[in-house]
Order: sequence, then C-alpha cells, then structure tokens
Amino acid sequence: MSDSPRRAIRALLASKPPVLPVFASPPPAELFGRDLFNLKLMRERLPKSVYQRLLSTIDDDAPISPSDADVIASAMKDWAIERGATHYTHWFQPLSGVTAEKHDAFLTPTSNGDIINEFSGKMLIKGEPDASSFPSGGIRSTFEARGYTAWDPTSPAFLLKSGERLTLYVPSIFLSHTGEALDAKTPLLRSQEAVSRQALRILRFFGNDRVTRVRANVGPEQEYFLVDRRLYNLRPDLIMAGRTVFGAPAPKGQELEDHYFGAISPKILAFMTEVENRLWALGIPARTRHNEVAPAQFELAPLYENINLAVDHNMLVLKILRETAAEFGLACLLHEKPFAGVNGSGKHNNWSLADSEGNNLFEPGPTPWSNSQFMVFLAAVLRAVHKYSIPLRIGVTGAGNDFRLGANEAPPAILSVFLGDQLTDVVTAFVDNKADAETWRGGAMAPGVSALAPLARDITDRNRTSPFAFTGNKFEFRAVGSSQSIAPPNIALNASVACALEDIANALEKSGQSDPEKAAHLILPKFFEEHLPVVFNGNNYAPEWEEDAKKRGLWNLKDSVTALAHYTDSEVKDVFTRHGVLTERELEARQEILLENYIKNVHVETKLVQTLGWSTILPVALTTLKKAADLAKAVAELPRPAAVIKPEERYYQKVYAHTAALTALLEELDKKHVELDATEGLFLKAEGARDILLPLLAKIRAEVDALELAVDDNIWPLPKYGELLWQ
Ligand code: ADP
Ligand code: MG
Repeated sequence: MSDSPRRAIRALLASKPPVLPVFASPPPAELFGRDLFNLKLMRERLPKSVYQRLLSTIDDDAPISPSDADVIASAMKDWAIERGATHYTHWFQPLSGVTAEKHDAFLTPTSNGDIINEFSGKMLIKGEPDASSFPSGGIRSTFEARGYTAWDPTSPAFLLKSGERLTLYVPSIFLSHTGEALDAKTPLLRSQEAVSRQALRILRFFGNDRVTRVRANVGPEQEYFLVDRRLYNLRPDLIMAGRTVFGAPAPKGQELEDHYFGAISPKILAFMTEVENRLWALGIPARTRHNEVAPAQFELAPLYENINLAVDHNMLVLKILRETAAEFGLACLLHEKPFAGVNGSGKHNNWSLADSEGNNLFEPGPTPWSNSQFMVFLAAVLRAVHKYSIPLRIGVTGAGNDFRLGANEAPPAILSVFLGDQLTDVVTAFVDNKADAETWRGGAMAPGVSALAPLARDITDRNRTSPFAFTGNKFEFRAVGSSQSIAPPNIALNASVACALEDIANALEKSGQSDPEKAAHLILPKFFEEHLPVVFNGNNYAPEWEEDAKKRGLWNLKDSVTALAHYTDSEVKDVFTRHGVLTERELEARQEILLENYIKNVHVETKLVQTLGWSTILPVALTTLKKAADLAKAVAELPRPAAVIKPEERYYQKVYAHTAALTALLEELDKKHVELDATEGLFLKAEGARDILLPLLAKIRAEVDALELAVDDNIWPLPKYGELLWQ
C-alpha cells in the first residue's frame, strides 16, 4: 500500500473488479436435495421394514433400535462413499452459538493389512468429542471432559463440500457425561414434544382422535450485509467484532429509501443464485431474495419447514452465505449492527403449529369468531407472550442485538402482540360472548383499474413495528438478531406456548362442559380479558408506548444483562422445567454462558478500540496537528489583514480538541478495562461492560468520527462508510 491509504483504496476500487466465478448448476428440480440423505433415498436403499420404522421415528418420535441403526448407517455410508466422501462427522450446536464438527475417516485398517470402510450403527448413534473446550456454564469442569454427540434421526444427514472435499454430516445433539444438554438442539426437540403433548390435549378435547402429534413450523427471514472483501480486510473491527467500532456516516445513507426492493445488481444476483443453488442441493427451500432497507443490505427467506429442520437449515444458511461471499470477493456481515446510522439486521421468525394431518392450528378460517378451536390456540399464544414473556425476551439476548432492539429500526424490548383491528375486535367481543359476523370486515379491495381482478384483503394489515405479529395464519417474532441461532427463541416460544396450552387445557377439562364449543365460550372470556393488555396494534416505536406498556404491566427488559438477571426467576424456571425442556442446572448454565458471552463480546470491542485508537487513529491525528502547526508557523511570517480569520488556527483548534478528548478517553478506557478485568462476579462484570465500557466506546467513537470528517482524506487509515456501503 502506498503512503496514502486513501489513494490506495480509491485505486483499488477504480481497478477492474475481480472476475465473478461461474458455477455450473443443474436445473433446480434436479438439484433440490441432491446432497441430502432424504426420504426418497432412504426408501430406495433401506429394507422396507427399517424404512417404515425410521418414518415413525421421524413422525412420531418412536425410538430407533440399534439393529435398525446399523442398517441405516451402512446405507448412509455406501451412498456417501459412492458420491466421493471420505469422512463423516457428527454436526452439533454447542452453546457457543455456532456449529461444531470433528471429522473421522470411514477408512479402517484391518489386522491383515487390508483397508475397509467402516460406519456402524454405533458410530452413527454416538460420538465422543472432547467436550472440555465447549462452554458448559459450570456443568462440566475441564478434567471431566467427556461429552457425547448423538444422532438426531429427525434431521436428515447430508454431504457438504469444502473445496473439493466431501464429508458426510450427521445432525446430532450434544450432551455432557452426566446427561445434561450442552447444546441448542436437545432442548429444542424437548420443547417440540412438550408443545405437541399439550396441543394434542386441546385437539382431543375438540373430538379429534385422528391426529397423532403437533409440530411447530418455522420460516426465518434472514437479513445480511455484503461488502467488498478487499475493504473488509482493511477493517480489523469488521474482521474481529463483525461491526465497525468507528466510522462517520456517509453523505448518503438510507434516507432516500431507494435500496429496499430495488433492482438487484448483476454481481449480487450472481452471488444470490450461487447461494440458492448450494442451499437447494442440501434440500433447503430458499425462496425469496431482495434488497433490504439499508444500502448493501439484503434478505434471504426460505419456505417454512418443521422447526428442527428450520433451525439446522438456518445454521447452514449462515455458513453458506459467509463462504460463498468470500468466493465472490465479498464479505457477508451477519452482525446485528455492522454500521451505525443505518438499519441493522434481524431475523423474522415466522412460527405456527400444525397437526399430523397438516392442518395449521392458527388458520382462522372465514369465520374466526365461530372457530372455537382457533380461538383457544390464539388465547394460548396471547397468554404465552403475556404471562411467560421473559423466556422469549431471553431467547433474543446478545451484545449485538442490544444495538438494534429498541433503536427505532427493530421492535422494542417490550413484548406485545399485534393482532390487527379485526381480530382484536373479535377477541374483545368474545369476552362479552358477542362475537359474530358483525365484528368481521373482510372483503375485497378494488384497485380502481377495470382490467385488474379484485384483490382479497388479508385479515391483518402489516405492522412492522410489532415484535410479535399475527400475520394471517402464523406469528412473526421479529426481535431475533441476524447472527443468532433461531433455536433459543423457538425453544422459549414452544415452552411458553406449551405452558399456556396446558393451563387452558386444564380449564377446559375442568369446565364441567363436555361440549367443546360451550366449554370454550365458558372459559375463554376470562383468558382473553386477562391477556388483552398484551395486544397492541399501534406504533411500537413511539415514545408513548413505553409509558403505556408500563401502565399495562408489561416487562421492558431493555438490555441483555437486565433480561438475563431474570433467567432464574421462579416463573421463568417454571416455564422451562414444567415440561422438562431444561433442568434447573441446565438453565443456570445457560444464564452463565450467555453472560460470559456478553462480557467477552464487549471486551473484544474494547480491545479493538484501544488498539485502533492508540496505534491507528491517534498517530494520524497527531500528524495532522503537526502539519497544521508547521503551517501556522510558516504563514505567521506572511502579512495579512488583521481582521481576517486564520484558517490554520481554526483547523488546528478543531483537530486539537478532538485529539485531546480522544487521548483522555482512551486513557480512561485503559484504566477501566483493567479494573473490570479484575472484578469478581459475572453480573458485576457484565454490568461494568454495559454501564462503563460501552458508554466509553460510544464517546470515543464520537471523537474518532469527528476526526474522520476533519483529517486530510488522503491519510485516513480506514475504509470509510461511503466506500463500504455504496459499491
Ligand atoms: P411476509 O408477509 O412476512 O412477507 P411470507 O409469506 O413472505 O410473509 O413469508 C415469510 C416467511 O414465513 C417465509 O419463510 C414463509 O415460508 C413463512 N411462513 C408462511 N406460512 C407459514 C406458516 N404457516 N408457519 C410458519 N412459517 C410460515
Ligand atoms: Mg415478514
């Protein structure tokens, strides 16, 4: 790089862009599920009886026998080796929030010197990674390092390519030697069974004896940023923290609203197409792609799937977005707030419940007021979000998401439910047993153009400010962060809805009414009345809402540390332990891990600000001061009219003021960082990070950003927002 970093960056951007890679791909219909050991392959390759039993495991949680596992492992291995795989791995989701894998070769030497490929049922069912370096929140000390991974037969195995290497991935859970869950998947599967059991009680009460289970379906809409990888490589903050700790706003941000749903550039479209192809090969139904609100921000949405698959698949989406971006000379930023001043990224978690015959339990039908079963499930969700809201809030905690929630671009930390006026009217009328056709205003919209067909009006409008919105036949939990696993919020959602369904099922069964309609009309008014305060159809970003919510008694847990302090409240414990989703010990471990994670994130950012501040920004500021001082000396000798302003002095004073403030703040940060490092106690450390370090980082940023706007552009050492966001 030349002695002018800016000139070098500009030359880089003006040079020919890297040639886009071209990937050949079969048509989608051929590609879809190609690398997945899916039901079709299983039917072809497994004996019929084994296939049937595996189906009942997948559908109805029937345990799998060791002899069946042997047969399945052998078929899986043959398929993987035919396709060119040499290794297999249990693939799991430890509490670090990312996925983990440890590859083993199929190859096994025999005593007579031969080589055989081995993959037994035992190897399929159980793996034994050294668990000592995964977060366990005190469940396991490093000298008791044993941990087990166990095959999850309900999520199909797949082949994943890295470079030219193909590996068989076996989705797995991760347990400690003492049997406690050390991962995200185990409680997710438990929560799914819990919600199924309670929902079945309701369906049985309504006389449905056919359905065998209820499953949650989830469709996560994933937002992300793409920036030029060459610029990314010049920003240590993006590389190490995933967000810019400094950066003055670009002259143009998102104010013109010209990026949202704008035409997708050929380069980005090439990237998106390749991402989709890779996802389709894995059987991940990527469907929607578009430009998002902020410049350089995009979204990918798959079609919804069973919750367990949706969670696994979202982890793969994150991985494939990141890896494919690198191949296109791009860096994919998944952090919740990579850039100050423009929108951050979230993940809308669309969630619903469906029975084993595929009926969506949140489908209101044409006459919701007379659809008592729908009204029961609706009441359960209102109760879950109202009475059991803290687990949901905890499900979306994280240092990154704290920059977004409540920042006028994402829903606030107050959990309320948007039902839309029509459904709210139905619920209100239901309380007085008055709901009827009069409370319902469906109908069609006329576009006023005679050639166009009338458009059916949705029963709810959109309210993008709501954290938890009913959107026709599903709920959309919008507070999830873009980088987060969707497992924790969905575990919380399933667990709290299971509790609410249980409460309502108890009331129905105790109502003394065996006629389900009459029983529903008897007990639901009380539930609706109790939980109507959680319904809010207004603007969640409005400052008045905070006051209003307080009056309604809704929690407003503004940041992660505050929310996590409630993790061990008795009501929260009850939600998780009542149906065995998490044990008390697992819950305490998770609280500890999340707090540690928060502290570590803030400390990484602190160290970045210290290093960049002292060794990158200050030297540039001082060079600028020296130049201005030299200039002042030189021009002092020249004659000039007395009254005229002295630009060299003004400039010197301006840069001096910010440089002096920056130096003082960096010194303070150094001191506080040492003090907090020595503080004992997780909560004290976390509060210190939140109340002392983060505000200092913000103050330092203000000085650095002011310097960025003043210092000679040619010597500013970092790529600026304009270059990062507008490529
Ligand atoms: P939006 O109105 O939010 O744009 P879309 O129809 O585009 O809704 O769907 C957004 C996401 O919600 C997609 O992933 C979609 O598959 C998912 N989705 C649709 N119906 C359901 C459902 N019943 N349960 C769960 N997710 C659903
Ligand atoms: Mg949406």
